[in-house]
Amino acid sequence: VTDAASRPTSADTGPAVSDPAATDRLETEPPRRADVVVIGAGSGGLTAAVGLARFGRSVVLVERDRFGGDCTNVGCIPSKSLLHLTAAAVPLDPPSLLARVRFRRDQLRESETVEFGATPNLETIFGAARIVGPGDVRIQRPDGVEEILCEHIVIATGSRPRRLDLGIEPDRVITNMELFELAERPDRLAVVGAGPVGLEAALAFARMGSLVTVIEQADQILPGVLPDAAGVLQRSLEAHGVRVMLGTPASGELEPISTADTVLVAVGRVPNSDGLGLEEIGVDLDGTGRIRIDARGETSVEQIWATGDVADRTGTTHGAGAWGRRIVKSIVARPVPIGAEPLEPRVVFTDPEVATIGEQPARVPGDVRRTRFELADSDRGFTDEITGGLIIVDTRRLTGRVLGATIVGPRAGELISLFSLGMHAGIPFHKWFGTVWPYPTYADALGRLLDDYMREVFGSVPSDAARWFTGRLRSLTRRR
Ligand SMILES: Cc1cc2nc3c(=O)[nH]c(=O)nc-3n(C[C@H](O)[C@H](O)[C@H](O)COP(=O)(O)OP(=O)(O)OC[C@H]3O[C@@H](n4cnc5c(N)ncnc54)[C@H](O)[C@@H]3O)c2cc1C
Repeated sequence: VTDAASRPTSADTGPAVSDPAATDRLETEPPRRADVVVIGAGSGGLTAAVGLARFGRSVVLVERDRFGGDCTNVGCIPSKSLLHLTAAAVPLDPPSLLARVRFRRDQLRESETVEFGATPNLETIFGAARIVGPGDVRIQRPDGVEEILCEHIVIATGSRPRRLDLGIEPDRVITNMELFELAERPDRLAVVGAGPVGLEAALAFARMGSLVTVIEQADQILPGVLPDAAGVLQRSLEAHGVRVMLGTPASGELEPISTADTVLVAVGRVPNSDGLGLEEIGVDLDGTGRIRIDARGETSVEQIWATGDVADRTGTTHGAGAWGRRIVKSIVARPVPIGAEPLEPRVVFTDPEVATIGEQPARVPGDVRRTRFELADSDRGFTDEITGGLIIVDTRRLTGRVLGATIVGPRAGELISLFSLGMHAGIPFHKWFGTVWPYPTYADALGRLLDDYMREVFGSVPSDAARWFTGRLRSLTRRR
């Protein structure tokens, strides 16, 4: 690996090098050594890099663009700023509001850059990384190619938006990469894709006065979420003036798209697993190009790890962080058992918020109890004049194990954390009963749901036990 003749040329390491003298200098230097190289300074990479550095490992963090990755620059932070500013009683005019979103985002990135830059044992290099072998990373820097030899490599290169060819002028089509750079709100905005990214943008721009149409090919918004929950959000979006077209494949001839000033394409993500040299070194990918990892976050190649959007487990900032922490724990304390895989709550920050966790199939299986409570029936729902919020909880009959939950309403994103904690700690749902919830909060509505749940459980213990017993008997007979 230290043989200069085997070094990559600029053709296989990325863009041409601007300063040939500097390249020569870097390429004749022997490779440096570090304990760990982390590729990508976004949510997953920063968590892993800072965590490992705090445990005394020497870490080189490589970033080809901006500190903070998608979340800080073109994702969570600008989108939540936009939603916050557009919800103000007296919002700023759209150009000032959009400029403020960028200003706040840039402020955060700068403070993150300073904060993480000061972490002992952590060095950041700006450049594009490529893995040339286990423990061998080459970095295409603006001033040349640098090689680092290391024990572990953590891949945290994130994802990019999936693009669609709509057959219209390219300058009318944007993704989340360009969304927050808009200087003015479009008069007519078409949003292709009714997932979290599309719906949050639709709400924010509708509040700013854009005429917004959402086009979705599935027959509900937020495909995958329980239809009743999606229905509550759809009605609210429509009340905000958003037109929703379901079961409609996007095409440039579709009226809302052909007449739109701007078309936001938000139809999913493509993992950044290409161009890293993974095929050559035998790192397994799934059918969509995401890196397969095990329960520790290790790939099919020992001591190469992956977290975040590029891996096959998560698609959120907190998920990238959770897997980043597992990797830190696995590297610094390998013999310690890693524990169950993390459960990832998901939140759509619309009005109302939609929060989900765990599994909730559209049709309830026989051994599952589904309990539902309408927020309008809670006292806080009454005072806040809620019309459509709800909580839906799935539990295993007899054991009370919580399998999944959906919450639609104000602060649903906060309330779902109770489920995150309860499910992580494995607390059966009947043991949540008796907890005292402050009145009148939305958590108190959960207390009311628990009253209903306990009443139902008491009534059905004999039939649930009989069902469980018959099921066991059947499976034993089948085994024989
Ligand atoms: C509009 C939008 C809103 C979102 N809102 C939320 C939200 O509210 N909550 C939430 O939890 N999630 C949200 N997400 C998802 C969240 O942004 C991602 O899940 C998260 O950023 C993934 O983190 P990551 O570390 O995998 O990747 P990223 O944060 O994208 O970081 C990857 C980094 O790797 C760098 N990189 C890539 N290839 C190389 C290379 N070869 N060499 C060096 N560097 C490289 C990239 O430049 C990038 O900086 C949102 C996403 C979008 C698009």
